[in-house]
Amino acid sequence: MACRACPRLVRWRERVARDRRAAYRDETYWGRPVTGFGDPRARVVVVGLAPGAHGANRTGRVFTGDRSGDWLYRAMHAAGFASQPESRRRGDGLRLRDAWVTLAVRCAPPANTPTPAERARCMPYLRRELALLPQARVIVCLGGFAWRAVCDEMGLSPRPRFAHGATARVGGLVLLASYHPSQQNTFTGTLTRAMLATVFRRAARLAAGRPAPAARLAAGRPARAARLSARRARSRRPSSSAEARRR
Ligand code: SF4
Repeated sequence: MACRACPRLVRWRERVARDRRAAYRDETYWGRPVTGFGDPRARVVVVGLAPGAHGANRTGRVFTGDRSGDWLYRAMHAAGFASQPESRRRGDGLRLRDAWVTLAVRCAPPANTPTPAERARCMPYLRRELALLPQARVIVCLGGFAWRAVCDEMGLSPRPRFAHGATARVGGLVLLASYHPSQQNTFTGTLTRAMLATVFRRAARLAAGRPAPAARLAAGRPARAARLSARRARSRRPSSSAEARRR
């Protein structure tokens, strides 16, 4: 939350927080990097692009306080991952079950477009976050940016083509692509509520190890993903002292 590694994004997130939108004039914006949130035992991890300038950059909680969040949490609620269908502000009682929601880039970018260098600079945070989620089985990538970021992070080469509903398997994980619930997609009907609900039903099925009939699977286990898999396996394995205590 204290990171200032990207000067352009730091300037933007703080400027938006200072100037504020008229509707939120009386609020104190978060104006800092936004961390992931949810259930530490999550089997489903949702990765978005970056905080919304007047959404998470205002509230401090990922996908909270804007239309994208309304769409996301409604679908997650319907699939049993969220305790309520909306996310207005931090402290509104929203709890995630078996799910963790995070971002490829943690600071709000101008025009919702981080540069490749900014993405690369922020990637270690996602890497460390995934390593701390040892139960993760499915990564839902919201939009092409998140898909490319996660595929590259997993070392998938050639990178599987982004398409709504596309999947790839790597290092014990299933990556599942969805159109981003941005207003550009939801207003135009590119993404409907039914389509997003289907993504989360499918994520639940995949996390439970049930086959997803429409899946297009790209097999592969590149070195980085194998290392991630080994790290996650180690963190699942009880230490000998913990094991001894249980005996
Ligand atoms: S985008 Fe990521 S790396 Fe860049 S300043 Fe924000 S938290 Fe730091």
